[in-house]
Amino acid sequence: MQSPAVKTYIGIGSNLADPKQQVIDVLPHLNQISQTRLLEHSSLYQSAAVSEIEQEDYINAVACLETQLTPEQLLLELQAIEYAFYRQRSDELKWAPRTMDLDIILYGNLRQRDSHLSIPHDQLQNRLFVLQPLQEIAGDLYLPGLGSLSYMIQHAPSLRIEKLA
Ligand code: ATP
Ligand code: CA
Ligand code: CA
Repeated sequence: MQSPAVKTYIGIGSNLADPKQQVIDVLPHLNQISQTRLLEHSSLYQSAAVSEIEQEDYINAVACLETQLTPEQLLLELQAIEYAFYRQRSDELKWAPRTMDLDIILYGNLRQRDSHLSIPHDQLQNRLFVLQPLQEIAGDLYLPGLGSLSYMIQHAPSLRIEKLA
C-alpha cells in the first residue's frame, strides 16, 4: 500500500565554495529524491554565521517537498545529497563552515524528539535564517508549542539577514 504524501519543509544552508550557486544547484536534487517532489522554494537569503569561529556569511533557503518517504528515509536521502556536494563533517567543530547543510524543519504535523531526528527542528525558534524563508513560502503557520511564525520571528535572537534579489 502506498503511504500518503506529506508536505515537508527543508532548510538549506551553505557558506563555502560559491554558496549561492550551491543552493540553486541543490534544488533539482531535492526534486529527484524517490517518492518525492519539489513543490516550491523560497528566495535566497544571506545571513551572518552564528558561530564561535570567524566564517563567511551563509546563503539560506527553504524548500517545500511532498514526499511519501518516512522522516528517517528522507534524512538518509538528504545526507546522501550533502555528501554529493562534498560536505565534510568535522567531529571537533560544531557548526563548522560547510558546502551544504540540509535539515528537516517540518514534516506534516509530526512532532518527534529523538537524538537522531528532532522535528520540528529543535532550533527553529532561534533561527531567523530559517524562519524568514519558511514564512515566505508557508505563510504564517501556527506550530503547537512554538506559536506562529510571525511570533517566533519577533522573538528570535537578532541576526543580520538580507533577502537577495
Ligand atoms: P543543527 O542541527 O544545529 O542545525 P547541524 O545541521 O550542523 O546542526 P549536522 O552535523 O548536519 O548538524 O547533523 C547532526 C545530526 O543532527 C544528524 O546526523 C541528524 O541525525 C541530527 N538531526 C536531528 N534532527 C534533525 C533534523 N530535523 N534534520 C536534520 N538532521 C537532524
Ligand atoms: Ca543545520
Ligand atoms: Ca544538518
